[in-house]
Amino acid sequence: MTNDLARHHLETRLVHDGSFRSEFGETSEALFLTQGHVYASAEECEARFKDEVPGYIYARFSNPTVAMFEARMASMEGAEAARATATGMAAVTAALMGQVKAGDHVVAARALFGSCRYVIEEWLPRFGVETTLVDGKDLSAWKKAARPNTKVFFLESPSNPTLEIIDIAAVAKIAHEVGAKLTVDNVFATPMQQKPLELGADCVVYSATKHIDGQGRCLGGVILASNQFITDYVKTPLRQTGPALSPFNAWVLLKGLETLAVRVERQTRSAGTVADALAGHAKLSKLIYCGRADHPQAEIIKKQMAGGSTLIAFELKAGKEAAFRFLNALSLIKISNNLGDAKSLITHPSTTTHQRFTAEERAEMGVGDGLVRLSIGLEHPNDLIKDVLTALERA
Ligand SMILES: *Cc1c(COP(=O)(O)O)cnc(C)c1O
Repeated sequence: MTNDLARHHLETRLVHDGSFRSEFGETSEALFLTQGHVYASAEECEARFKDEVPGYIYARFSNPTVAMFEARMASMEGAEAARATATGMAAVTAALMGQVKAGDHVVAARALFGSCRYVIEEWLPRFGVETTLVDGKDLSAWKKAARPNTKVFFLESPSNPTLEIIDIAAVAKIAHEVGAKLTVDNVFATPMQQKPLELGADCVVYSATKHIDGQGRCLGGVILASNQFITDYVKTPLRQTGPALSPFNAWVLLKGLETLAVRVERQTRSAGTVADALAGHAKLSKLIYCGRADHPQAEIIKKQMAGGSTLIAFELKAGKEAAFRFLNALSLIKISNNLGDAKSLITHPSTTTHQRFTAEERAEMGVGDGLVRLSIGLEHPNDLIKDVLTALERA
């Protein structure tokens, strides 16, 4: 069914791995748009339900197109197993809730995607799971926060939207010393630029909605880990609670994976070019890009990332009014909350993704009123630079 993983380079595996062909020998992966399957006999049906023979039963448990997507994701990440979900948030929620029960404790980095923070701060505590938020950059804070009942460490690196970096290998080591497991949300790094499992994490989650689709079409998510981890924490809860990925979306995401390497490579190169063109601009108080030597954590980036990512963050000195004038003056780059798209997209976090936080909490996360997050797409970088510089003149 799948190729010998070790034989091929990543780009090759993104095109071929996980594919299996029907009796018609189709070139492109087939879209099995079916809720369920039929059986030759009642005996066969019984055997499948008892897991005595392999085969599909019902699309809430598994589906051939979804299985191809999962196998290709696992190959790419170097994980033993992958389970797809309807959205990135379904992946985060299932991965975290599967590992804990009432009375357990979770430690998470404070700089998180807004919905991830909701799950940690509000959702888990409703079921008797205690949670502590720490400054993820401060390794001693993880150690101090750990308790005998700590089961999970959770982080995002680079973080949204300030592109803060956490030393994944160091946090994984602390997690294991205190008997916890580390889950990493790897959306911002993309699967091309960071491999948390190789750095010691126990579980990786993605919103496939972002770079994996990469063309703004559908939502999806995935949880990657060892067979043991998936069996112990993920498989049965997903099957019984039902945040399953639609086979149609799995098919779109499979096609997205085929072009992931070229897209992310090009978008990252363009992001570097745009960041360099913006560095030192008189109207900016701050420019953060993971591929630049002036990133505050450039040393850790060198250790754990292969590239700079497709995102840039920068702060306009004159605050919210200037940021809004800048966004409204852009013509090519579109105002949106999304990222990782073929189209360049810009976000004003303090009034959108991070608006539910108090000004104090935002300041703690580095989300000032003048901060913008720019996701670089597939346009020619010179057109993007022209758009940004022209709009900055008007800001
Ligand atoms: C978008 C995003 C998510 C959530 O993904 P959805 O597919 O929108 O549910 C989670 N984490 C990070 C870092 C994200 O950027």
